[in-house]
Amino acid sequence: MYKADLIDGASRFRSTDGDPARSLQSCPSLVLNADYTPLSYYPLSLWPWQTAIKAIFLDRVDVIETYDREVHSPNLDMKIPSVIALRQYVRPSEFPAFTRFNLFLRDRFSCQFCGNMQHLTFDHVIPRRLGGKTTWENIATACAPCNMKKGGRTPRQAGMHLYAEPIRPTHWQLQQHGKQFPPNYLHETWRDWLYWDIELEA
Ligand SMILES: [Zn+2]
Repeated sequence: MYKADLIDGASRFRSTDGDPARSLQSCPSLVLNADYTPLSYYPLSLWPWQTAIKAIFLDRVDVIETYDREVHSPNLDMKIPSVIALRQYVRPSEFPAFTRFNLFLRDRFSCQFCGNMQHLTFDHVIPRRLGGKTTWENIATACAPCNMKKGGRTPRQAGMHLYAEPIRPTHWQLQQHGKQFPPNYLHETWRDWLYWDIELEA
């Protein structure tokens, strides 16, 4: 059998409606902005298919790709959308919200003193007792051992060095970091809309 036939055969197998590995619950729709880039890379912008179908009926989104699975109702048979695009462009705010998640994302989920990615905490670079504020510019991701070691001291007093000075990131910068954390699961129809810039470099 030729390789092309094998691939063809495999794709037919994948597209069977009765694939037990793919329950209806696990058919999320990838949500693209009106410019066809993902609304968010990390976490990847996904909606439950029910939400996607509601948005289709409200004329808020266009269907770009579908799963092979269909949903049935008395007056409608419809393929479940796997990729949808908003009709109206959502302009991201230039500066993302100051949240724990976004702070970890800015620091790529790694301790800014040693690179460890486990047991992450937040460190006030200038300690609070010395007037350090809880701001983008004064909080760095630190693993628990580094946080303990540093204690209530400045990095200089503790003889520790930050990989990078904490900054207030832009939305674009966080999106760039988010691209480095591909989700565990990617449906084949999503791939054209994600990561191609990375794959071209590979
Ligand atoms: Zn550390």
